[in-house]
Amino acid sequence: MDAETATVVGHDVTTITCICGNTVSQDGLIQANSQGVPVHAGGDLPVPPELAAWPADEDLFTLCPKCGRVYRDAVIEETGTAPVAFRVDVAAGPIADAIRVHWNLSA
Ligand SMILES: [Zn+2]
Repeated sequence: MDAETATVVGHDVTTITCICGNTVSQDGLIQANSQGVPVHAGGDLPVPPELAAWPADEDLFTLCPKCGRVYRDAVIEETGTAPVAFRVDVAAGPIADAIRVHWNLSA
């Protein structure tokens, strides 16, 4: 079976249409680390305990907070395709908490 691949336009991670239909302008997409944990992009502000620090190697992933599919930004930027890298549980547990904190901060 072929891996799932989302639709993406012009190597731009912000144009992903997730397999589940979600987009940036719908439920939003969140920058995450290699474990799928949303990263903190608040500059010099302290990182809330629920969020991951910005990865030092800049190896970022894009998390769909609706279905938990995660895409690797570097793959999208290099190939212009968006294969699903892995999937996380967004309904419960630490990633669900992190998503909540992420939206609170960006509200
Ligand atoms: Zn999705």
